[in-house]
Amino acid sequence: MSKQEQLENLSCTVRWCSLCELYFKRNNTVFGDGYVDADLMLIGESPGEREDAIGKPFVGRSGKLLEKILEYIKLDRSKVYIANIIKCRPPDNRNPKDEEVQCCIPYLEKQIDIIKPKIIVTLGSVATQRLLGIKENISKLKGTWQEYKGIKVLPTFHPSYLLRQYTEENRESVKRDFDKVRAALAGMQ
Ligand code: URA
Repeated sequence: MSKQEQLENLSCTVRWCSLCELYFKRNNTVFGDGYVDADLMLIGESPGEREDAIGKPFVGRSGKLLEKILEYIKLDRSKVYIANIIKCRPPDNRNPKDEEVQCCIPYLEKQIDIIKPKIIVTLGSVATQRLLGIKENISKLKGTWQEYKGIKVLPTFHPSYLLRQYTEENRESVKRDFDKVRAALAGMQ
């Protein structure tokens, strides 16, 4: 089966998922999207209101900023793969609960296994802690290389945090993270 077919099968399973209570209130599952052979995968936390309405990750303001950040390293959104830790929107955009993550993260693990990115960037504390199964805060992990099943992982700020704290210092700091991503990707060609 091709990667595309494997992802379509998985996305179909996700569309009908009722493993946790989030399925009662969702309008759409947000499986993830992008290039199936992407070298770079970006992982966020959970869908927001717009993502839930449309069924695609990062379509709101933070998505626009993420696209701008990708532009900075000369990558179009269509050349990366974007997904979230959980596939359904938590009410009032609260953090996902442990049981929701436990039900949902196997879908993400399968996605990563199918896509086989060379590098993963985790966006914010929740994505970083949940993917890596650690408790350290983003302020400690940001910009430092981590590893997930042999894949290099670089945690950085979530774009919505950056939008809230749009300081020169934070913008430069995120640029430095993506400089590292660009250099690592170039070194892997
Ligand atoms: N924030 C996320 O973490 N993911 C989205 O898809 C949108 C906003």
